[in-house]
Parts: sequence; structure tokens; C-alpha cells
Amino acid sequence: EKLKIAIDGPAGAGKSTVAKLVAEQLSFLYIDTGAMYRALTWAAIAAQIDLNDGERLRQLLDETTIRLSNEDNKLNVYLNEADVTQQIRQNDVTAHVSLVASHELVRKEMVERQRQLAQQGRAVLDGRDIGTYVLPDAQIKVFLTASVEERARRRFEEQQAKGMESSLEQLKEEIARRDNLDSTRAFAPLKKADDAVEIDSTNLSIEEVAAKIIELVKE
Ligand code: C5P
Repeated sequence: EKLKIAIDGPAGAGKSTVAKLVAEQLSFLYIDTGAMYRALTWAAIAAQIDLNDGERLRQLLDETTIRLSNEDNKLNVYLNEADVTQQIRQNDVTAHVSLVASHELVRKEMVERQRQLAQQGRAVLDGRDIGTYVLPDAQIKVFLTASVEERARRRFEEQQAKGMESSLEQLKEEIARRDNLDSTRAFAPLKKADDAVEIDSTNLSIEEVAAKIIELVKE
């Protein structure tokens, strides 16, 4: 009854878009765990905290509320009740979030909060360690991948649509760098759970991926 869907995978594979669609179609709660690490990163940059200092980051996190709110099909993110939905997608946040997320002290608290949010009911969570660490008992686990070229291309189109300036080559490098940091960190690294179903979305639409996941729920 307390069904949980865990969607993990590398950067830009379409996890959040797919997770949101699945959550909408099944009336599940959607929890974007990456947004939580991004919110902390944004706050730390604003406070000029040394991002290598895990203890200091944890202290900041302990003083900070992060609220995710689904408002008419859009996820809004509030940091101490200030709307940071746009800010957390900025390039400087993206460039530093993996460093912030590498600290065990930070992750321990984030995971605690994520488990509490998930407890509210049926939920879709997307991230890097949901199936392996946050919710190892999730009934449905998906590891969503796509070629790095395709992932960079999607990010590029996203950024173009938002009027952001970017280069495809740079995005590809950024994605590869982040994947490398996320999968080599010591604590709860990005990794496919043994019991996760791998879906390669390189040649699939968002709707097709969502349909596959909903299929898994119905089985
Ligand atoms: O999913 P998104 O790209 O927004 O995540 C941003 C970063 O947050 C990831 O690159 C990763 O470093 C970190 N993250 C994490 N564990 C999660 C979700 C995100 O370490 N569950």
C-alpha cells in the first residue's frame, strides 16, 4: 500500500521529467532529492561557505528548511520559505552540487529528511542513491540511463528553451564530470541497485519511459 518508486541514474537521463509524469499519472507524491542538494549548495554559495568543509555544510543544513511543493504540475523549491526554484538550476550550483553532496555528514541528514518525506504515502523519488540507500525496500526500482551525447543534447535544448547560454561540448564535459564525482564518492555513490530494472532512454520519449515504469507498477 505504501508503494515507493525509486528512479536513479546519471545526470540528464530524464529522471525528474519522467518521475514527475509518473507521479502525476498515478497520483503519487513526487520527491526530487537532487533539488534538496541543489538548495543546500545554493545556500552555501550565498553564505560563502567552504564547500570542502562537510561539518560547516552540515551545520548550515541543520539551520535550514528545504520544502518541495508540487504546484500545478510544477515543482517549487523553498529554502527557509524563500522561493529558490530558478536559482538552484543555475550553472554555478550545478557545477558545485556534487562536491556538496559528497560529504557523509550532509548525506546522512538529507537521507533522513527524504525518508521522512517518503513516509507520507505513495511516492516517486528520483536521485542517485534511492534504490541502493534511501529506500532499499522500494517495490519498484528503475535505473534510467542514456548515452552521454543524448543527455548533453537534452540539457542543451532545455537551456536554449530557457534562453540560457551554453555549448553542447561544455555540457557534455560537465555531465561526465558530475557522473564521475557521483559514482566515485565514498558514501552511497551513484550505482544501479542489484534489483533495479535498467531502462536506456536514448531512443525513447518521456512518455514511453513513463509507460514502461507504470507497466512495472501494474505487474
Ligand atoms: O538530479 P540532479 O541533477 O538535480 O542532482 C544534482 C546533484 O545532486 C547530483 O549530481 C548529485 O551530486 C547530487 N545528488 C545526490 N544524491 C541524490 C540526488 C542528487 O548525490 N539522491
